[in-house]
Amino acid sequence: MTMKVIRIPSERMDSNSYLVEEDGHVVIIDGSSYEGILQAVHEQGWTVDQLLLTHEHFDHIWYLQELREAFGMPVIACRLCSERIQDVKANLSNISDLLYYFKTGIVREGKSRSFTCEAADVTFEDRFELDWRGHTFTFERLPGHSPASTIIRLDDSHVFTGDYLIRGEEEITRLRDGSTEDYENIARPVLEQIPDGMRICPGHGSEYEMGQEHEE
Ligand SMILES: [Zn+2]
Repeated sequence: MTMKVIRIPSERMDSNSYLVEEDGHVVIIDGSSYEGILQAVHEQGWTVDQLLLTHEHFDHIWYLQELREAFGMPVIACRLCSERIQDVKANLSNISDLLYYFKTGIVREGKSRSFTCEAADVTFEDRFELDWRGHTFTFERLPGHSPASTIIRLDDSHVFTGDYLIRGEEEITRLRDGSTEDYENIARPVLEQIPDGMRICPGHGSEYEMGQEHEE
């Protein structure tokens, strides 16, 4: 197997998308980047098979519609995520500039972009498995950060955690519809069981090995 996982930081947002490549085919995790993804895919002549979403927040779906137009791949997300990306309040895009400012201290040029995306093409309730070119993606919805927050495991090697397990950051449950109770009861016990050595691929910041989160 020659599988590669490539992190593509967003050109505009403070968030990551990832490309998983095997044998000239790719799966995209989250739609936060556009130019970087387009460039990688076109340069290598790859075929995009699927796009998977970790959750509904604007900084993870910023370029989702553009990527759909560019590649036409099906989008897979939990049912709540599919519903909430269609709602400017649930995807937080109506307050995106404010949230960006709180996080980075940077006032963005231009106007805030409230936007929605079309429903996902494949949805599931809480768990889903996708077999892809000899690999398995396992989705598990873990509400807390948001109702639709989902972690996506790739075999026994990688976990795409969205806004969970961001290196050096506390888990955030205070955004609209976040729930500390759900986080403590549902998400946290699962996140704590991720074995050491798994490669954590969060939606912000850099990747790291589980167990090495405090080291450089
Ligand atoms: Zn988020």
